[in-house]
Amino acid sequence: MSHKGASHIDLSNTEIAFAHLSDVQLRKAILIFRLMHIGWLVDVLSRLALLLLKWKVPGVNALIRKTLFDQFIGGETLSETSLQIENLWDRGILSALDYGAEGKTAEVDLDAAHDMFFHAIRFAAQRKGVPVVCIKISALSANDLLEDVSGRKELTEEQVKKWKRVEQRLDHLCDEAAQLEVRLFIDAEESWFQDAIDELVHLMMHRYNQSKVIVYQTYQLYRHDRLAYLKSSHQHAISAGFLLGAKLVRGAYLEKENLRALEKGYPSPIHKTKEDTDRDYDAALVYCVQHYQQISLCAATHNRTSCEKLTMLVQHASLPRNHAHLNFCQLYGMGDDLTFNLAASGFNATKYVVFGSIDDVFPYLIRRADENDAVTDDFSREYIMRVSEMRRRQNR
Ligand SMILES: Cc1cc2nc3c(=O)[nH]c(=O)nc-3n(C[C@H](O)[C@H](O)[C@H](O)COP(=O)(O)OP(=O)(O)OC[C@H]3O[C@@H](n4cnc5c(N)ncnc54)[C@H](O)[C@@H]3O)c2cc1C
Repeated sequence: MSHKGASHIDLSNTEIAFAHLSDVQLRKAILIFRLMHIGWLVDVLSRLALLLLKWKVPGVNALIRKTLFDQFIGGETLSETSLQIENLWDRGILSALDYGAEGKTAEVDLDAAHDMFFHAIRFAAQRKGVPVVCIKISALSANDLLEDVSGRKELTEEQVKKWKRVEQRLDHLCDEAAQLEVRLFIDAEESWFQDAIDELVHLMMHRYNQSKVIVYQTYQLYRHDRLAYLKSSHQHAISAGFLLGAKLVRGAYLEKENLRALEKGYPSPIHKTKEDTDRDYDAALVYCVQHYQQISLCAATHNRTSCEKLTMLVQHASLPRNHAHLNFCQLYGMGDDLTFNLAASGFNATKYVVFGSIDDVFPYLIRRADENDAVTDDFSREYIMRVSEMRRRQNR
């Protein structure tokens, strides 16, 4: 489908955004976002829930399951995500499977995470509308190893062996993904791990992105060096003869990055202002669309202005809205205004569908709830949009 002539795409239509929710589901979501807006309550409840989960107090799992879990998580297991995936696919939305376990270090846990990603790749290949699996390298490697490799420390013999295992785990996943034509989005993480991740991902892109893009690197545009790095990655891809997968995010670790830089006395890698981040993010979108033949873009953002900008860029360049190299992505349970309206207008819209046991995904849930207090206004927007949709329905 090729749409010539640029038109403004309305991404604020709440009727389209929430058509998949019944009145009861919409009311429940309003309550959840309302409660998450109360910072101290989130703080108290998350600490309490952590303790109660540890003590295995009956009823706590069920309560989390019916509230935050239902809002932000696709299911405890891969098969439990099927219903969500099908509902999304019915509305033309693609799913990216995201295994939510974090912070494991023992080799046995890293192997288990590899196995879970491997199953996810096979599961994706057998389903309609699931072209992507997301991978966190910190689920395949201990963090201190990532930090030592990134810091170019001399590794012990033991560490060299462990690092080889990390590469093997990732290579095995990429190989399977390439054979089954499932794409892999590799997340970006804290800057002190990122050099090791970048090198590994470049190696995999070189191996597996020869004729189509299987592996995607993530670029965090809140870092002041990343726009230049995106361009140099692209130049490197051209000279080495592979295609670049570029998932663009602003970056999730702003406070942690600035605090660490301050404590350790080095200049923060993060832009000084939000405007600087926004400028680089949008410039990266322009760059990727200009070079769409060699770069497959995934705009992973809840920022409406950036999404609108990308819809205009695609139209100005007279590219098909559903070109395989032009993708938008939001998290399950958030940014429905963008995902559903983009899909309804013929763009490639994807949801990150997180799955995992409540214990595994609890840190992810707390992060979603914490964002309420943090630097984004996502949660007020999420709340306001749902309230206006409810009013629209009541006034019909
Ligand atoms: C599908 C998806 C996948 C993601 N994957 C990753 C990932 O792999 N790695 C990762 O790190 N994050 C990831 N994120 C999170 C992302 O980086 C952002 O934290 C989040 O999406 C909010 O940014 P935004 O673009 O949606 O919009 P906005 O709400 O417009 O932007 C908020 C962001 O702007 C930046 N910012 C805010 N204040 C300032 C300031 N004062 N100075 C400089 N910058 C500032 C921060 O990055 C902040 O998160 C992902 C998000 C999505 C939707």
